Amino acid sequence: MTTTVSSKLPPLYHRFFPDFIENEIPAETIATCDDCVFCRQPQNPFINTKCCTYYPQMSNYLIGGLLQDTGWTEGKKRMRALIKSRKGVTPYGLIRPKGYDLLDKELRTLHPTDTGWTQMEVEALRCPFYDKGQCTVWAYREHCCSTHFCFSVGGKKGKQFWSLLNDYLILVEKELSKYALYQLGWDADKLLLEKPDCRNIVIDNPLGEINEEQYAALWGVWAGREEQLYAACYEIISQLDLDTFERIMGVNHQIYLAKLTHSKTQFQVPDIPEFLIYNRKIETETTKEGDIRYLSSDTYVVVSPLIHKLVEKFDGTRTYHSLSSLFIPFGIDFQKDYLLMLYLNNILIQKDA
Ligand code: SF4
Ligand code: SF4
Repeated sequence: MTTTVSSKLPPLYHRFFPDFIENEIPAETIATCDDCVFCRQPQNPFINTKCCTYYPQMSNYLIGGLLQDTGWTEGKKRMRALIKSRKGVTPYGLIRPKGYDLLDKELRTLHPTDTGWTQMEVEALRCPFYDKGQCTVWAYREHCCSTHFCFSVGGKKGKQFWSLLNDYLILVEKELSKYALYQLGWDADKLLLEKPDCRNIVIDNPLGEINEEQYAALWGVWAGREEQLYAACYEIISQLDLDTFERIMGVNHQIYLAKLTHSKTQFQVPDIPEFLIYNRKIETETTKEGDIRYLSSDTYVVVSPLIHKLVEKFDGTRTYHSLSSLFIPFGIDFQKDYLLMLYLNNILIQKDA
């Protein structure tokens, strides 16, 4: 199953990558976000957030695009409330408010992987645009929200492709948001060359209180007219032609496109060997809900005890087709995608590997 790159990028960008977006890539049939892997068990602490425990750094022109759109009512309402609060609201777009940034760092130090989180901790980091499983700003989502997949059917190569695209979108957002401000007459002396964040722009404190003086200095004549600034930025970026875009991005555009095109050719779903063995070197633990968690080197996979029993039966003497059929009477349809996930995470390995 395949999809096109265009389906993964906000429409605003489509004309900047006319050929590249037509490329076919494997569909991420395991990280199916509408039917999120985190939401398949009611006791999962991420049940009310999915992986949207993240503060999106939407650029000025993406915010402007959202606010002028005739749809996305809930997202616009939330964005306007955020602009009113002024927390993390900058001319470049949204940055993490200081309080969120500190909490995020603290919790991720405490839990370096997705394990061990309480539901309360997870929900403290929920994105302000997340609404009952849906993204309320999807058509104007930023780099990470476009390219993050908790699992790639292409394994490491798939992850590399998404990571490269993410890096390029970060650069695009940084350059275009700055370009829009410059076109609006922003003082070049005041424009940041690096990616804006709560370390190089300080407008609120950990308690969420706004520093009035710094906020006024940052926004200048646009203070109080934030929405108009975002609309003006969108106006500029939405009318950019391809030549101007390429001129703004400079040589980076050609380099990234070449790298992405190469990476795409390596992004393929591997064939699963017919004869597989359960890799007993993989550490396992039993979760407090009684499920089995395999701890592979860079991620973990949780399965029910019944599936674990099936996994243990992989000893290289029978094909995966015949083993899978053993479990059909128990109501378990051991789909190929599932097998792929176990294979790519080294939980099932090729016989004689
Ligand atoms: S990427 Fe996020 S939303 Fe998509 S399936 Fe994975 S955890 Fe769920
Ligand atoms: S902007 Fe949308 S996709 Fe991104 S973290 Fe928020 S809810 Fe999730």
